[in-house]
Amino acid sequence: MIQFSACVGRTRPAATFAMAARARALRAAGHDVISLSIGEPDLPTPPHVVDAAHRAALGGQTRYPPIAGTDALRCAAARKFERDQGLPATPADVLVTNGGKQAIFDAVMSVIDPGDEVLIPAPCWAGYIQVVEFAGGIPVFIDCPAEAGFRVDAATLAAAIGPRTKLLVLNYPNNPSGAIADAAMLIGIADVLRRHPHVLTISDDIYEHLIFEGAYLTLAAAAPDLAGRVLTMSGVSKSYAMTGWRLGFCTGPRDWLAAMTLVQGTATAGVSTISQAAAVAALDGPQDLLEERRTIYRRRRDLVLGALAGAPGLTCSRPEGAFYAFPSITSLLGCRTPSGRILGNDEDVANALLDEALVATVPGSAFAMPGHIRLSTAASDALLEEACERILRFCITTCNH
Ligand code: PLP
Repeated sequence: MIQFSACVGRTRPAATFAMAARARALRAAGHDVISLSIGEPDLPTPPHVVDAAHRAALGGQTRYPPIAGTDALRCAAARKFERDQGLPATPADVLVTNGGKQAIFDAVMSVIDPGDEVLIPAPCWAGYIQVVEFAGGIPVFIDCPAEAGFRVDAATLAAAIGPRTKLLVLNYPNNPSGAIADAAMLIGIADVLRRHPHVLTISDDIYEHLIFEGAYLTLAAAAPDLAGRVLTMSGVSKSYAMTGWRLGFCTGPRDWLAAMTLVQGTATAGVSTISQAAAVAALDGPQDLLEERRTIYRRRRDLVLGALAGAPGLTCSRPEGAFYAFPSITSLLGCRTPSGRILGNDEDVANALLDEALVATVPGSAFAMPGHIRLSTAASDALLEEACERILRFCITTCNH
């Protein structure tokens, strides 16, 4: 038998992909499943971006790229960080990665040793827990309940920081809650961080363009004096509907970027040249498509909030950004489903919704916040309407059972 490494032993597959796989298996068995489990835009990659990829391939951009990214994309990303995020960056301050996910992997692997603590406001994207555990770090969750708008409270953050705290991970707009960062929250966080110079921060801004209410703001722009220990990452996956192109980028202190480049160069010889050419077209091309897409996602959010408003047992707060709904399901607990199962926790609810209503969602416990489920709203209006109708019927019959 193969003796696998300790880091493999510590690592669990992401629950989002597990639910998507269950949904696929049910569909393959002939069931009409609607999957709202994965956070993936259903809209197409813009045609001018696909064109740029064609041209890059035909034009011979088919050799190994520099590990940190092509000059063209590092220039485009530096312009983008300045234009969209208010962060002064030169091409040398940019690292290009295989999706936003690899930026987070590089960042964590370059600073976390076994036993180091990583503060993660919860609910959080499951990917942070995975990579921190892979590195041997200890995720320390900061509870950000719905009643607090899923935002970080500065006093709670301060109380969670100890001598082993190495890193804080921020993610706004947030997956799964849809909360966005406001100036008051970031100023409060910055005040705490100033008192703890040993704490680094990753700001995961992958949903930066998906804000429906309020304005986008990021920590390194709100507190430029902290920029020497803040890594800001983003990518084209969500904003430009390019999840399959695997393209992310980040900016931050040069020594951290250099260490990350070393990690990245150990794992991969850089990022696909074709995807990098496509990303240049996305970042330098017309940006009005972002507003058009934001309008679509806003409409879908409103559709889902409206449709689920009358669902007994669900309480849905209003996401200000990203493309998820994250209703509380605690009022369903203890109830009996149409097929007679007693719902004991959020996993039971997600499993029953899949088996009995044929809608795939993800339990909140996968995002370190049990008592909720997450639905992706990045699906067509027709699918969302049908899914909400099924959820509504499920809730009504479950609550009356
Ligand atoms: N960060 C967050 C908060 C996400 O939700 C995701 C994807 O779901 C990622 C990072 C990963 O992005 P990418 O697909 O670019 O690797």
